[in-house]
Amino acid sequence: MLSLLRRLGARFGAAPLAIDDTLWQATIDACPLLSPLSPTDQRTLRDLTGRFLAHKRFAPVQGMQLDDSRCLVIAAMACLPVLHLGFDWLRGWREVIVYPGEFRVRREHHDDHTGVVTEGDDVLIGEAWERGPLILSWADIVQDLEDPHAGFNVILHEITHKLDMLDGATDGVPPMPPWVSRREWIETFQRAYEAHCAAVDQDEETVIDPYAAEGPDEFLACLAEAWFSAPDIVDREMPGVGQLLARFFGPPPS
Ligand SMILES: [Zn+2]
Repeated sequence: MLSLLRRLGARFGAAPLAIDDTLWQATIDACPLLSPLSPTDQRTLRDLTGRFLAHKRFAPVQGMQLDDSRCLVIAAMACLPVLHLGFDWLRGWREVIVYPGEFRVRREHHDDHTGVVTEGDDVLIGEAWERGPLILSWADIVQDLEDPHAGFNVILHEITHKLDMLDGATDGVPPMPPWVSRREWIETFQRAYEAHCAAVDQDEETVIDPYAAEGPDEFLACLAEAWFSAPDIVDREMPGVGQLLARFFGPPPS
């Protein structure tokens, strides 16, 4: 069988890749968050995944070994957030860079109080650039597959950043589909974000990842991954946010 990988990097606008039945079933079996999807949703996801494989270019780095099954897992999970929104929501970028594990990036840090700028390395498991690549650590993808309901999922986190960036502002407010009120989104998320930041500032133990207090963009990305992975926890902790995520993404696959 011709390797999918050899056909990746096809021109933009290329026809979706047809995914072999056996490979598709293996992908569903490998991704516990996908198996509860209805047969109709699985057909839609398979079509979206074929389009992802035709339109995006996979770039393994630092000795990362990518094969068809790994590319399929990444593509299928990346398409889950747009299952009900549509493939157009993944527009504006092409490259998927995959590291074997955590990776370092050089960053400038500005101290707001002293004005001093220092350089240092950040260790990341995923990153999303506006109109640039999606960058992922394979080791962390595997960890998410093995513990699918822990509230963490690096692919869903980074794809949510991509959706947030679509209107040019990475601010926790993605462009809204017609059935979600932007004003309700901003008010509900702002309230929940401030409450979360206050709890983190007071060193309270929070069910939602403390990292969500880093900014409204991280709050959205963390809440989205938590909602796909453990929707009942988000509904219990932040019901308004859970309801809005269900309207935005469609019902969670459980
Ligand atoms: Zn993030």
